[in-house]
Amino acid sequence: MTRVTVCNPLCRTPLSLIIDDSCPVINLTYYWITQRHEWKAKYHPGTPPDAWEGDPDKIASLPRTIPADFARKWGEWCGENGIKGKFSFIPFPAGVGRVDQGFKDYPAVDMERWMKVTKEIIWPNFDLTPEMLTHTRVVDLKTWQLTDLWEQGEWVDPPVELLTAYITAAMQLLKNAGIPCEGVTSPGAFGGKKEEAHARATLEAALAVNDNPRPFYFLRMTRGEEMPEIPIWHAQKEKGIAIASIFGCAGDWFGSWTGYDAGDPDLFITEDLQGGRLPQVLAQEAPCVLVGHWPGFYFGGEEVGLNVLKEVKRRLDAYDPDGTKTLWMKNSEIGHYWMAKELSDITPREGENGEGVVEVNTRFPSERFTLAMDAPARFVRVNGAELKPARSRLDFRSGAFMTEGHRTYIAFDLKDGKTEIAYQKS
Ligand SMILES: [Zn+2]
Repeated sequence: MTRVTVCNPLCRTPLSLIIDDSCPVINLTYYWITQRHEWKAKYHPGTPPDAWEGDPDKIASLPRTIPADFARKWGEWCGENGIKGKFSFIPFPAGVGRVDQGFKDYPAVDMERWMKVTKEIIWPNFDLTPEMLTHTRVVDLKTWQLTDLWEQGEWVDPPVELLTAYITAAMQLLKNAGIPCEGVTSPGAFGGKKEEAHARATLEAALAVNDNPRPFYFLRMTRGEEMPEIPIWHAQKEKGIAIASIFGCAGDWFGSWTGYDAGDPDLFITEDLQGGRLPQVLAQEAPCVLVGHWPGFYFGGEEVGLNVLKEVKRRLDAYDPDGTKTLWMKNSEIGHYWMAKELSDITPREGENGEGVVEVNTRFPSERFTLAMDAPARFVRVNGAELKPARSRLDFRSGAFMTEGHRTYIAFDLKDGKTEIAYQKS
């Protein structure tokens, strides 16, 4: 029987850009370091800050806000250049104000302009997620006051019921503001000590708040040699329910979370396209997910991180000049693709008149679902509709098939339910 395997979408390696610590109006880093410094003085007086806690001497020079005009400039540039990914939208950033109620210390027009640019410019290309409620101190959900615990530090291991309630509240605030989110981002290691519970809590919250059966979360980074596949948790195959874990594959070499530590495009990919982390990941054809922090793109108005991004994108385009090797995708699209890949039943069999048939049964739809068959085909039909032959990889898109030697590649938008692929061997 003909062997059938699921390939990368359109035989291209997924690329994605994750933006953390982003929120409307305020610069999270200013509040984060300020609050951390106050907390440290209260609980550990006389102890100098650890490196990861930022430099309190820098607080005075940090901007308190990041303007919506910069978000527009950044979002438009990403849109024009085909970049897709995930953009955090922290729902109660640093406890300054709730996105569904406004920030009382800042002009209402700032929030209005931020909401407009987020929804109209950024959202079409980036999933929006909470990065839990404040990204600084833990909120008491009964009083909505900040406690002295930290979401990312001491509170990585809360009771499961509380974890679910907390993630549900984060999603609900975004929903109230007109943003049914596609998943969540962990501030620091939030949820990392009990990932199975974190995944379940996120899935339950996504179902409860947004009726979303296939969300994702971002918690882990890897700098290892071997890139992992996309882990899928808590799959209920018959119901079409599951949650995907998206891994970042490189450090933040844009402008850091601080917004004062300049990055370097060479760490991602060198000018000769050989060195740096990204070619190593792309060579494995594993999802290549870059991670940066919003304050570092703005960099106090110097836009250092944005300039690094522009250079990295220029080099990635040089690495893949005709766009046949890589494909920019949102985090949610990567999650949906891997669910379809791992949770669909794919059965080849002999059809009538010497035709071959491949039957796909799934509850996990995905765009650009791409199969490889060890058989050269003259034509291919998907549910009776003939696919277009692609002359080359350049031409290969959803709704097309392509033969290379004895292999045939087929790409189509996989629908919920049964799909029948018929092909004539040549
Ligand atoms: Zn963060």
